[in-house]
Amino acid sequence: MSSTNSNNKINTSTENMYAQLGISDEVYDYCKKILDDLAPRFEMIDKNAEYNQLKVLKAMQDCKVSEACLLGTTGYGYNDLGRDTLEAVYASIFHTEDALVRPQITCGTHALALALMSNLRPGDELLSPVGKPYDTLEEVIGIRPSKGSLAEYGVTYKQVDLLEDGSFDYENIKKAINDKTKLVTIQRSKGYQTRPTLSVERIGELIAFIKDIKPDVICMVDNCYGEFVERIEPTDVGADMVVGSLIKNPGGGLAPIGGYIAGKKECVENAAFRLTSPGLGKEVGASLGILSDFYHGLFLAPTVTAGALKGAVFAANIYEKLGFKVVPDSNESRHDIIQAVEFGTPEGVIAFCKGIQAAAPVDSFVTPEPWDMPGYDAQVIMAAGAFVSGSSIELSADGPIKPPYAVYFQGGLTFEHARFGIMKTLQSVIDAGVAKL
Ligand SMILES: *Cc1c(COP(=O)(O)O)cnc(C)c1O
Repeated sequence: MSSTNSNNKINTSTENMYAQLGISDEVYDYCKKILDDLAPRFEMIDKNAEYNQLKVLKAMQDCKVSEACLLGTTGYGYNDLGRDTLEAVYASIFHTEDALVRPQITCGTHALALALMSNLRPGDELLSPVGKPYDTLEEVIGIRPSKGSLAEYGVTYKQVDLLEDGSFDYENIKKAINDKTKLVTIQRSKGYQTRPTLSVERIGELIAFIKDIKPDVICMVDNCYGEFVERIEPTDVGADMVVGSLIKNPGGGLAPIGGYIAGKKECVENAAFRLTSPGLGKEVGASLGILSDFYHGLFLAPTVTAGALKGAVFAANIYEKLGFKVVPDSNESRHDIIQAVEFGTPEGVIAFCKGIQAAAPVDSFVTPEPWDMPGYDAQVIMAAGAFVSGSSIELSADGPIKPPYAVYFQGGLTFEHARFGIMKTLQSVIDAGVAKL
């Protein structure tokens, strides 16, 4: 299609721009109609983003973030004003006594392992009352044997699965809590499972039940993908610690690495002593030049998260209408940014991921293929063309090539990009003959 009209002026119609990027009129119209109907839903998401934007801003102002905070230290990093202030900002946002927010925490799994290994001692027991935790934690805990796991250090593990309808199995949770139970881990997001994501309110109910039985147990929440989706966070409903990754929601797409732990002073101190060294704790850890991105990303995180959330809702509505099972469904309230679409065939998963890849700002010209990823029992296909490698707050998708042939999709630094990416998936799915409009 020509990019100029008969007057030799630039054609500034958005539809024309979509056409230039490979979106057919048919797909454009189909998506437009769905979006029009989503306006009230998006307004609610925007209202939450507005609230959370103000919450972040207030924390930055209350903690007196200054220009000097944006600079970095080297070497030991004693008296790093920016690092210490950023940790105070996180503590203020999560309403906790303290926080540890560091580039030396390499990823979400590391942050979770750190929180667990520093707060558990030999002879203690860890309990997950919400079923199997995220894949990578299996080796941290020792569910799958691994060097250096909690199991090797004499920390035992108990798990109580959710009931069939997704509710808590209170009876067996009560039975599982004993003298040794020291820490309870609660995963907010469904991760790559089909169970529902937990709302902060439900997490609060679970924590209240557990604390009623054993008040001194530490309740930790794996907060990955959940930050800023709601107005409250798990620490507002009794969690002693929240843990997450900075290359997901709270990094706002700008943090190039990092993880956080926010919570009770003692929990955070234990984690700091483990991260650096007993006795040194939070006092060391140079921030190098990275803090400006941490602050900047955190400032943008509420609106970035809102854009990703709208993308997830948009995708759910498109694919549900085409007859595919989507989790969460088109109307459900949202507690994280992940969207699953069940295609039932490998072709569907592959076409979807090709669409996401083709929509990327980086590496849009490469074609994702299923491959034998270490640690998985089936081939996996992944699509991402991100500014920060592996960042899943950026537009990304992946799926194992095995029944029920579901693809997991998340992110998008702007809603405009998430929208385009989903339109590209639809175009790709249609072109592959997996679905018809
Ligand atoms: C992403 C994620 C993790 C692990 O984070 P990585 O940064 O990939 O190590 C843990 N739990 C949940 C629920 C996650 O979504």
